[in-house]
Amino acid sequence: MSNDTPYIGRFAPSPTGPLHFGSLIAAIASYLEAKTQHGHWLVRMEDVDELRNVKGAADDILHTIENYGFEWDGDIIYQTQRKDAYADALQTLIDNELIYRCTCSRKKLRVIAEQGEYGSIYPGTCADKNHDEKREHALRIRTRDAVYGFKDSVMGNFSHNPKKAIGDFILKRRDGLFAYQLAVVVDDEFQNITDVVRGFDLLDSTPRQIYLQECLGYQTPGYAHLPIAVNGLGDKLSKQTGAPGIKSNFDAGAMYLALKFLGQNPTPDLAHESKENLWQWALENWDLNKIPKMHTIQYVD
Ligand code: GLU
Ligand code: ZN
Repeated sequence: MSNDTPYIGRFAPSPTGPLHFGSLIAAIASYLEAKTQHGHWLVRMEDVDELRNVKGAADDILHTIENYGFEWDGDIIYQTQRKDAYADALQTLIDNELIYRCTCSRKKLRVIAEQGEYGSIYPGTCADKNHDEKREHALRIRTRDAVYGFKDSVMGNFSHNPKKAIGDFILKRRDGLFAYQLAVVVDDEFQNITDVVRGFDLLDSTPRQIYLQECLGYQTPGYAHLPIAVNGLGDKLSKQTGAPGIKSNFDAGAMYLALKFLGQNPTPDLAHESKENLWQWALENWDLNKIPKMHTIQYVD
């Protein structure tokens, strides 16, 4: 990143439940990185998957991060208000003949698709079928048979060929909802995000997102993927695995644990410090290079 480009980072929670420890880690790391680079930190509510949204969760998350002392720049955007922008981007891709209708059901895909490292690989069954638009369908993007890679600021080099690893992927679902991959790319561009800091579980989405940025003529931001907190069974801490939400009032203990998780070596007395002192310590001592280069770290509550 050149010196004349101001750093713009973001925190992009999905309102599927209250803020939990895993998302606190992403919030803290993205915030400290933005602030220590004298940059801006934006908050985006990723409520694009409307079937998973939980009523009240967005406000809940915002209250919690406010109570923790996070200060965001600009207005919060909600993906449910951004459908026109996603439709415009999709139209650009349609105009460039990169999109086709796919009528495959999940059941059919279970039978015909090979399993790859990241789930099933779409075999391109519908790529040349030109299905009638009256049939129920999803919209997929044609991938290129090419390697997409990047240098992650935490994890190092990562690359794969999205066509081989994942196959042509969905940008608009059968149920009419836009897919996360499209929404996140359009929004990162719209908000001029220069640097993305998020959980390791999204590392393998990044080559797909870089491909979409290329197709749409967007800039590619820098990426830093953080280890994710898992429970004793190795499941990601999330609403789905029953992870408890963190207290919505400031909790020095949770913040201390998050800094420890991020490899920042906070001294144990910080677990009882005031909010102001904790943030001061965190801002003075933040070092992205100290983050463990691990994909998951077991977190015991
Ligand atoms: N909304 C995603 C999540 O909460 C994060 C997406 C991203 O940071 O790109 O897991
Ligand atoms: Zn299909």
